[in-house]
Amino acid sequence: MDIMAHSLWSLALLPGPPSVAKVALGIAPDVTVFAASLTVQAIKGRFQPNFKTRKEMMQWYEQEDKHWVLNLYKWTHSLIIWSLVIVPIIVYSIIYVNLFPWFLLAAPLHILMDIPTHDHKSFPVEFLTPLSHYKLNGFHWSKPLVFGGNYIVLFFVEFFRVFVLKR
Ligand SMILES: [Zn+2]
Repeated sequence: MDIMAHSLWSLALLPGPPSVAKVALGIAPDVTVFAASLTVQAIKGRFQPNFKTRKEMMQWYEQEDKHWVLNLYKWTHSLIIWSLVIVPIIVYSIIYVNLFPWFLLAAPLHILMDIPTHDHKSFPVEFLTPLSHYKLNGFHWSKPLVFGGNYIVLFFVEFFRVFVLKR
């Protein structure tokens, strides 16, 4: 999904008031990868071309010197890796601070939403990295029906949260 959708879903679904932390964790799996890629390109003085198609973009990332980006993407989109990072923090918070840090769930939420909205052709989500290469051939988020449908559902969920649940 796109960055805006990830941010809005984090705010819509996670309990508690809106926060920067929810948005930050909600976009972290993507931002870490693309920020790292842009930084490396800037250092090398070679900037990303304007891709006309997704295929063109993937061919660019599949070049040997950029393959690490696809690899990093697998790791930042792994439910296993995120569990190893956030479960100890959640357990610590519950035991010692008596608080559930909901914002941490924004990252796994991002992955759960990416799994069915990415296909094998464009940044497939290998969410069981490093234990398995399994990936779902989903419906890409850029397809008009998925993209539009997502924002319509998001609108109703947000409406329900604000006007019915009043939270
Ligand atoms: Zn993602």
